[in-house]
Amino acid sequence: MTTPPLGVVVDLDDTLYPQAEYLAGAALAVGTAATAAGLDGDRVHAALVHELAAGSDAGGTVDRALLAAGVPAGDLPALVPALVAAFTRHEPAALPTYPGVPEGLAALAAAAPLACLTDGNPVIQAAKLAATGLSPLLPVALVTDTLGGRAARKPSPVGLLALADTLGVPADRLLVIGDRPGKDVAVAAAVGARAIRIRQGEYASAPDEPRAEAVVDSFPAAVALALDLLSEAAVPA
Ligand SMILES: [Mg+2]
Repeated sequence: MTTPPLGVVVDLDDTLYPQAEYLAGAALAVGTAATAAGLDGDRVHAALVHELAAGSDAGGTVDRALLAAGVPAGDLPALVPALVAAFTRHEPAALPTYPGVPEGLAALAAAAPLACLTDGNPVIQAAKLAATGLSPLLPVALVTDTLGGRAARKPSPVGLLALADTLGVPADRLLVIGDRPGKDVAVAAAVGARAIRIRQGEYASAPDEPRAEAVVDSFPAAVALALDLLSEAAVPA
């Protein structure tokens, strides 16, 4: 029999809100900056949307978009920094959460220690969390990059281990809820913790590798299952 979890760690992008909403706004900001730099901003915007659709965390996205928009390679060094900055500094006023997310987080927080673990540029991740309005429900939020750059991103266990310390829960008694098998499920596996995968967002069709304890279609479904698992720990043997 598996040991019941004592705390919950949730992912941010494509778990609590649709990341496509953020990326669309950031791409518009880059288009505007491209126009200001004397480029065809609409064409740069369209190329960037295309690149982001092919994979949003690859790195070098703005470079590839400029080349695809017909900008000579030799012009890139002078153009890229300002356009990357336009992307990075994009602060959406509001980002819509998936249905039932605020209620679900409140229910989890009432049942067990709760935290958020997310990968990415710390400035961007903070802006996203603020725009979702979920910050008051997630006072403990950790951006892995603050622990050592990209090398600290999931599935590196360093972020989850740090949160286990903060929450006062053994790492292998955490339950991770997230959308990406290769990150959220894998980071749980790296410390012997359990994971629930939500099949939604950019990676909805990714294979179940590694396999999560359960795969659900929505955040409320993940919360219901998590509350069940947490209640096992509350029942005296
Ligand atoms: Mg995610």
